[in-house]
Order: sequence, then structure tokens, then C-alpha cells
Amino acid sequence: MKHTRRQIAIIGGNFAGLTAAIRLSRRHAVTVIDPSAHFEWMPNIHEILSSVKTPQGLRLDRAAIVDQAGHRFLQDRVTELHPHTRRLRTAGGQDLSFDACIVAVGALWNTHGIPGGERHALPCRSIADAVAVEQRLRALVQKGRQMHIVIVGGGISGIEALGEIMRRYRDVAGLSIEVVEAGGRLLPALPQALDADLRRACQSHPVLFRTGTAIASVSAKGVHLADGTRLRSDLTLWTAGLAAPALLQQSGLARPPQVWADVHQTLQSRHARSTFVIGDCAQLPRAVAKQAYNAIDMGELAAINVSRFLAGAPLKPYQPTRKPVLVAFGDLDTYLVAGRTVLASQALAGAKEGVFQLFMSQMAPGSVLQSLPAAGGRLWQSWRRLAWPQLLSLADFRKLPDRRVVRML
Ligand SMILES: Cc1cc2nc3c(=O)[nH]c(=O)nc-3n(C[C@H](O)[C@H](O)[C@H](O)COP(=O)(O)OP(=O)(O)OC[C@H]3O[C@@H](n4cnc5c(N)ncnc54)[C@H](O)[C@@H]3O)c2cc1C
Repeated sequence: MKHTRRQIAIIGGNFAGLTAAIRLSRRHAVTVIDPSAHFEWMPNIHEILSSVKTPQGLRLDRAAIVDQAGHRFLQDRVTELHPHTRRLRTAGGQDLSFDACIVAVGALWNTHGIPGGERHALPCRSIADAVAVEQRLRALVQKGRQMHIVIVGGGISGIEALGEIMRRYRDVAGLSIEVVEAGGRLLPALPQALDADLRRACQSHPVLFRTGTAIASVSAKGVHLADGTRLRSDLTLWTAGLAAPALLQQSGLARPPQVWADVHQTLQSRHARSTFVIGDCAQLPRAVAKQAYNAIDMGELAAINVSRFLAGAPLKPYQPTRKPVLVAFGDLDTYLVAGRTVLASQALAGAKEGVFQLFMSQMAPGSVLQSLPAAGGRLWQSWRRLAWPQLLSLADFRKLPDRRVVRML
């Protein structure tokens, strides 16, 4: 007896959505919908600021990857999603029906409604954003005058951007950089020892850190702090905060006051059985870090659970695993954070680069790996392995010439 292929729609095709697509069997009719033609590797976009990386180097052809997985790519934006009637509509006017849907629309930048934030600050959440910042930096240097930069947010993105600006411009006369962080210390989500270490690393550079400091407004000329201080700024870079895409509430997958789509531990929506939500836009019963490695792991599980859902089989729970984090600080240092242990070495930058290089070369359409039979499984192993620095062991770390233990538990 011939079975009709079940229709699966995947909305958003970056880390989470593309992983799910690669893992889904060709037995299903899978359509990946994303407005952008390219997969973007976000963890290294800060390196565009120093021109260490080019935009092309951080992109892959999304249509070719989806095609090689045996599925269909639709370059379009989903504007309406109706999980209960299992239909969606795109900006391009297409109406699609589905048996199951995977929502992987990520997160947006968020200026928390601070006056002037969206108008005068530059985001750094995509390759296009990073290119715009790099162009502004070069234009300012060409003017040859003083260059005041304010970075809003002292989290990982803000610190990595600071490192790249320092890498390229720290010897430019007249440069001053202020990092404004609302939390009490830099990198609030990581061990406290990092705050002191970063401040020490910047002592001889024109960098000022303002922690525990809120921003009142942003203008074309600077940043106005809540305590009344005015900071002059020729370039305000906004790296703090995430906002949820509107589609989540419009579709009823996020119910106010919730802004992210709440899911069961199986990643199935709490509000629509046929819909699974993964990656940054998902709100699990116990929150997990909005990081690429979780998006990838959720993508894999969503592929398994969607197939099980369609077959009427019980679903599996998402079991997050703790992963080490690599924080690059330009050419000054790179930190490896594993739980409460923090190690530092310039040579660790090689590990971050290794993760990136291996991932991109194996994902690139037409790579040897992809053209092999059953590549999906092996490709997946690469994705999983490469999402975090398992390339590096503590034994390897001991061999690094400039290694430092910032904090060891
Ligand atoms: C500067 C920066 C540095 C980072 N560094 C790291 C790091 O070092 N390590 C780490 O693990 N993580 C890092 N992250 C976080 C990581 O990039 C995210 O966790 C990851 O991208 C989440 O994957 P995702 O697939 O859920 O969402 P995304 O990667 O954001 O993808 C969402 C996709 O959905 C598409 N989309 C959105 N709306 C629609 C719609 N309506 N219709 C169709 N498609 C839509 C978008 O075009 C996009 O392609 C970083 C993020 C940033 C911004």
C-alpha cells in the first residue's frame, strides 16, 4: 500500500531549523521557509568588525543545503501561522497546509523601548549588522578625529565586539571606548573572576567599564545615563537584550504575558499539538541558554519527535547538557568557561576557529561528506560535535604556552 508523504513545514532555517531539516527523513515532504538565502554563523560575526572574517566566509547557501537533504527551500517570510487549522501564509502570498510544523524563528534585538535606541544605536545580531558597524568604524577612523565608542551591554556579545574593535583600532590616536552594563559586573552570566580579568586586560587601553549603570536615552551625539551623566558617542553599539518575534504571539504559541513560545519538555507546543518550537524562540519548563548548541540539539530532537508524533508514538524529552563556553577577546585573550572553571590563553582562539572551520567546511554544499550516502547521520555528528569546543581537552590546555587559570574549582 502506498502512503502519502506527510507535510512538515519548518519556519526559520538557521541553527535549529536547518538541523531539524537535515535530520528529517526524505519519507516526509519537508519545506523549510526562511526569508534569507544564507545560513549565518553568528558566533563569529564580531570578527567582521576587525575584518578578520568576511561576510562571505560566515555564510552558506541555504537552498543548496536543504536540497542536499532532499527537501524543499522556500525563500519567504511566514506572516501568519494558524497551528490549529495547520495552515500558514507567507509574505510572498503562498498558502501552505501541513501535518506538523517546526517553529525556529530565533530572537530579535531589543532596545527595551529606550528613547532613541532603535534610531541611533547600531545592533550586532546579524552579518549585515556587523558589516554596517565595520563600515562606520572605518569611516570614523578616516576622518582622523577623536573616536568615542559606547558599547551597550557587557555580556558575551558586547565583550567579543570590544575585543575585535581593540584588535583593529587600539593604537588609533583619540580612541575611547565605554562599555555600559546594567548588571553589577561584566559577563553577568559567567563566573565573577572574568570581570576582574577583563578589567586588568584593559588597564593600559582607552577603555572604561560602567557596570550597574542604566541607560536613559540615546541620541545621535551620545548616550544619556539614568544617573544624569552624558557620554559622548560617535558610534553606539547595542548588544544587550533579546526580543521575541511577533509571530509567536500572533500565532497563539506565546500567550501574554509570556513572549516566548512555551513548550513541553518534548518541545511540543503547550497550545498546539501539531507544532514544535525550538531554538532561541522556545521557552522550556526550565529555561536553557539561548545558544547555538542548544538550538542544534533541539533541532535534532524536534526531527525525532515530529516523526514520532506523526506515527502516534510517545515523544522523547529534551535533555540539555552543560557545555563549555568560549569567549573571544580579540587578539588579547580567549576564555574557556566550563562550569565555574575559567581558563585563558590566546591559543584558545584556535579552538574557536577550529569549531568554525570544521563546521563550515563540512556543511558547505557539495562537500565530500554531504555527497556520501547516509551523510545526514554523519553530518549531524559533525554539527553536534562542533557546536561547542569539544576539540579541546584539559590535557591539551596544559600544553598551551601562555595558559592561565583565571579560576579553577
Ligand atoms: C553576536 C552573537 C554571538 C553569538 N555567539 C554564540 C556563541 O559563541 N556560541 C553559541 O552557542 N551561541 C552564540 N550565539 C547565539 C546563537 O547564535 C543563537 O543561539 C542561535 O543562532 C539560535 O539559533 P536559532 O536557529 O534558534 O535562531 P536563529 O539562528 O536566529 O535563526 C532564526 C531563523 O529564522 C528566520 N526567521 C525569522 N522569522 C521568520 C519568519 N517569520 N518566517 C521565516 N523565517 C523566519 C531567520 O531569518 C533566521 O534564519 C550568538 C549570537 C549572536 C547574535
